[in-house]
Amino acid sequence: MRDFDDIRADFPILSDEYAYLDNAATTQKPQAVLDAVERYYKSENANPLRGLYDLSVLATERYESARAAAARFIGADPHEIVFTRNATESLNLVSYSYAASVLREGDEILVAVSEHHSNMLPWQNAARLTGAVISYIECSRDGVITPDDIERRITNKTRIIAIAQVSNVIGRVNDIRAIAELAHAHNAVIVCDGAQSVPHMAVDVKQLGVDFLAFSGHKMLAPMGIGVLYGRRELLESMPPFLYGGEMIEHVTLCGATYAEVPHKFEAGTVNAGAAAGLEAAIGYMTDIGMDRIEARERELTRYMMERMQAIEHINIIGSADPDEHVGIVTFTVDGVHPHDIAEIMNSDRVCVRAGHHCAQPLMKFIGYPSTARASLCFYNTEADIDRFIESLSGLRKKMGY
Ligand code: PMP
Repeated sequence: MRDFDDIRADFPILSDEYAYLDNAATTQKPQAVLDAVERYYKSENANPLRGLYDLSVLATERYESARAAAARFIGADPHEIVFTRNATESLNLVSYSYAASVLREGDEILVAVSEHHSNMLPWQNAARLTGAVISYIECSRDGVITPDDIERRITNKTRIIAIAQVSNVIGRVNDIRAIAELAHAHNAVIVCDGAQSVPHMAVDVKQLGVDFLAFSGHKMLAPMGIGVLYGRRELLESMPPFLYGGEMIEHVTLCGATYAEVPHKFEAGTVNAGAAAGLEAAIGYMTDIGMDRIEARERELTRYMMERMQAIEHINIIGSADPDEHVGIVTFTVDGVHPHDIAEIMNSDRVCVRAGHHCAQPLMKFIGYPSTARASLCFYNTEADIDRFIESLSGLRKKMGY
């Protein structure tokens, strides 16, 4: 079994120059992923799903083998995996295709206030298009949405529940399985945003009982430009296409068209096979390490980081004080220091953290901070990265003249 120091050496961009702690925004890429993309373009590239010649067949095989890998990774069937550009596009696909065709005036969509804008704006738009209404579910101060919170709001008009498994601000895990059971007991579907969970823990769609799950490749070691939508097969089959054009059809006349089988019905135009090859390699790489081992290492790093943060005065951690209730994400403020100053000063110390509203403005309003800083971990981070972050954090107030 390889140790994590060894594993870190697989990432060419990671050196002693930076402590990269913005993994919730995007992760770095191991050589195996870079090689897979290069291999695709050097020896497998043609337009997939179209040509009859060998090279195009090879490109198609690579693309479909990436789909099979994504399906295995989350316990789905390959027909249930639609490739998109990112989690945002996956969620828009569900809102434009599923929601816009099933919602009727007065139907309800339950959305957690803690959602990323990518899992909120598509529902606002679906409500606008259909006359449905959104009912927002408030989270607790430490960021969790409990099945009780849902039970209080769900009605026989609820058709969709949209909720993240892990919030990108608070980092806490929601009990998706229990929420899915509640949704189904009310004939509603559950759309789960897995952008911050799938990269960090073993996720099985059948065990969770979700109807849709969205996530992005770039947050799990893969290239940018490839995302995944899992959808239960019967649902995908019942849905109209989202984008129309080449490669998603069966037959076209001047009056209309019949569409390809799922998932191709949802993949109009030339697909991103190079990024899919990278995603397949990323999944293989993470599976070789083991998702349970990844989760345990990130938990260990989170504990190391939070305990040191908690020992410094004037630092406020958002959400639970228990490190086990943060999936590698620690959002914080420093008394008297604007989060943008935190990020800038940390940048001069070569520490990369995020500052701002984290694309979750309603949540920021709800927790009472317009802006915060966020440090987020990946298994390739080290205690030395965290020490560097802590040293920078400890000196912040002094640098601001306190
Ligand atoms: N949901 C969550 C919880 C996220 O953290 C993010 C990315 N910050 C997204 C959705 C959107 O991901 P992408 O920008 O890759 O579409």
